[in-house]
Amino acid sequence: MTNEQLWKAVLAEMELSLSRAHFTTWFKNTLIVSRDQNGVFVSVPNGFVREWLENKFHKQIIQLIRKHAPEVRDVRYIIGQPKQDITKQDISKIILEKEIEENNAQISSDVDKTTHLNRKYSFESFIVGSNNELAFAAAQAVAKNPGKLYNPLFLYGGVGLGKTHLVQSVGNKLLTENPQRRVLYISAEKLTATILESIRLRTIEDIKNTYARLDLLIIDDIQFIAGKDKTQEIVFSIFNELHVRNKQVILTSDRLPKAIPTLEERLSSRFEGGMMADIGMPDFETRLAILHSKCTEKGYAADDEVLIYIATHIQKNVRELEGALNRVLAFAQIYNKLPDVKEVKNILTAYLSVPYRKTSPQSILKSVADFYSISQNDLLKRSRKKEVVKPRQIAMFLLREEVKLSFPEIGAKLGGRDHSTVIHACEKIKREESEDESVKQEITLIRERVYNDSLLK
Ligand code: ADP
Ligand code: MG
Repeated sequence: MTNEQLWKAVLAEMELSLSRAHFTTWFKNTLIVSRDQNGVFVSVPNGFVREWLENKFHKQIIQLIRKHAPEVRDVRYIIGQPKQDITKQDISKIILEKEIEENNAQISSDVDKTTHLNRKYSFESFIVGSNNELAFAAAQAVAKNPGKLYNPLFLYGGVGLGKTHLVQSVGNKLLTENPQRRVLYISAEKLTATILESIRLRTIEDIKNTYARLDLLIIDDIQFIAGKDKTQEIVFSIFNELHVRNKQVILTSDRLPKAIPTLEERLSSRFEGGMMADIGMPDFETRLAILHSKCTEKGYAADDEVLIYIATHIQKNVRELEGALNRVLAFAQIYNKLPDVKEVKNILTAYLSVPYRKTSPQSILKSVADFYSISQNDLLKRSRKKEVVKPRQIAMFLLREEVKLSFPEIGAKLGGRDHSTVIHACEKIKREESEDESVKQEITLIRERVYNDSLLK
């Protein structure tokens, strides 16, 4: 078997196990360049692909190679000479690589070591639209009058809609006015880890004291403390300390306090005791305004037509919008000219076709269980308790909608239920999704988890 035949055979099988978009992204322009007793060398177009093949596909590749050439001991990936004809897809891969590098560099340098605030987040760089005007106004009011007006401030909404940006803007604002102020930003996940660690080291009282001396405490993604009793107890005590001293607390969450399962009642009523404001999806005008502002921020004057194209096609959230724009701007940097609409279209097609919209029943069951803080086993059991019946119905609905399983298959996956039960559940949730705003929001959040989860795999 020649190298070419061998690689062709490997690719043919690889293709069967992957979506087309995935396959093209990772295996296009790869080939075996040499094979000796040390192993097989596969040439890949760039470092990004190399990393993916090494980390995600290596085992499968080596197995497939050995199927045809059992003597092969190892496979290595090397970055080959760029081909003469660089395709649009290659461009976007290179751009993505660059983008990741830049993002990583930025993340570390912009964050203050003491406050954990990222300097880049400010009110000035936040675009206000109908989706976030209440949240914005509340955040500004709190920045003007910390601890006095709305305490706590509770912002909630889906992924990538600007919660972190907005709450950090408050912190940055307070510090520009008075650098002596004690401000701390922390994610609930990190806070939980800190608390557990300090319990172990018996320094929990020190931690509590440090927190109690703050002027502003921002806890991001508070939904994360669901089910974590010890953390909740400490958060409750810190919260009360700050509250009685009129020190400001700001919280964010992906949903309302009441919708966070296993959040103690005393905490959720505290969280609701100040001001709650939601952030929704930006409409077209707001998306366009955000793109304009980010372009200016980065020193580019992109033409309207291009930005309109992006704003029309990327609607999910602001993070994705920024991601798309970064790709377009990276193109501009590499080619020394801004892309026209046709080129942007190519760049975005590659961006949108990254096949993360692919999921599995496992991922759905896990996401539903995690969201409601129940175990996956609860979904399968016979229990008729309210806390598990609804999640189970939602799991059925999502298995139907997202994985297109048949009703009997869904019944079998969920503990051997009858297919008529499944049909009933799917219809019920479908109806509720269109009639009940809170059900709709929950499902959106679970879908986000499902797809973020698949993206990480
Ligand atoms: P969340 O915390 O809600 O998941 P982030 O605050 O991390 O979202 O926002 C994601 C990205 O989108 C950030 O880079 C943020 O600066 C940007 N962003 C979100 N909303 C806006 C807005 N209204 N104006 C400008 N940038 C925004
Ligand atoms: Mg956030």
